[in-house]
Amino acid sequence: MAGVILNNVTKNFGKFIAVKDINLDIKDGKFITLVGPSGCGKTTTLRMIAGLEDITSGELRIGGKFSNYIQPKDRGISMVFQSYALFPHMTVAENIAFGLKIKKVARDTILKKINWVLDLLDLTGLDDRRPRELSGGQRQRVALGRALVLDPEVLLLDEPLSNLDAKLRLKMRTELKRIHRKIGSTIVYVTHDQVEAMTLSDEIAVMNKGVLMQVGPPLEVYDKPENKFVAGFLGSPPMNFIPVDLVKDNSKFYLDVKDFKILIPDQKADKVKKNAKIGEELIFGIRPEDITRIEKAKDVHQGNKIETIIDVIEPMGSELILSLATGKHIIQATVDPDIHLKVGQKMTVAIDTNKMHLFKLDNEETIF
Ligand code: ATP
Repeated sequence: MAGVILNNVTKNFGKFIAVKDINLDIKDGKFITLVGPSGCGKTTTLRMIAGLEDITSGELRIGGKFSNYIQPKDRGISMVFQSYALFPHMTVAENIAFGLKIKKVARDTILKKINWVLDLLDLTGLDDRRPRELSGGQRQRVALGRALVLDPEVLLLDEPLSNLDAKLRLKMRTELKRIHRKIGSTIVYVTHDQVEAMTLSDEIAVMNKGVLMQVGPPLEVYDKPENKFVAGFLGSPPMNFIPVDLVKDNSKFYLDVKDFKILIPDQKADKVKKNAKIGEELIFGIRPEDITRIEKAKDVHQGNKIETIIDVIEPMGSELILSLATGKHIIQATVDPDIHLKVGQKMTVAIDTNKMHLFKLDNEETIF
């Protein structure tokens, strides 16, 4: 098995910088996901690791070895693309066996591996079909199988679940975690789906406009985003952002939203003193799940209560997403289902001030 290291890797297409000065240390056997909006440079990064795209500057190491100029086939890597390029004239079994035959693997080993992968990917009974006789999802799983049988040291997956229906996608997500546990390869996965990234990975690398914004375990990145972009990209519904002014009253710091004021807890005051000035415009952030109906809140005081009016109710089954009007702003909260709630009704909510976030207005960096 092999880890993958990118040191100051940059990719230019002519004058356009697609990937800018990326540093990543992917430990051997880890599952890392590159996630970010369309065009942020995820696929380009993956293609540079695979050797399908030249590296403009910087250094790529696979298994400790300088690999910028190593041929793709010699990198110990398998890659599965979003557009699974299966051989149309070959059956499923022949497609899966292709790479093994080229490597001159013994026939009985090939048969064993085909059966293992057919079973693993729920393709049993389809081994004699040709790609045109399969659904999109089945074809995508054959492409995954073709990569898995090669026991790659590093498996690169570019949106491999995108053609599956929602139910199969969920199933394959769990399955991929099991597969990773079984095969132990280093996996670099690309998706723009933040839920997929959060649920699958040991680590996520959030990218925006060619720049790596933050890397870390999913929950750490979710709880401690280093900037407003990462905070807003992870989470559904997304974090609420409200412009505020920093004020001080009786030696306590508050965020003045105009409709209401939020008390900054004492344990966060040092970071505010260090990074912001009284009167400065900042961005206050709170996740929908950290806003609670007053009756259910554990800690309520004048500095965390907000009077709202229910504007929209979206039932999700296990929870409700409420859009709440505070006067000047609309904030979203997720609450337990309650059939008695009506649009237009007043609702007092409390925010969990220990979970709130604060960002600079200019560079959008996190204060806390
Ligand atoms: P998506 O989620 O839409 O697949 P992505 O994050 O994978 O997006 P990339 O495919 O890596 O993004 O592309 C990053 C940027 O580089 C985009 O602006 C894209 O238009 C540009 N780009 C990619 N390949 C080329 C190329 N061969 N020539 C010129 N520009 C390119």
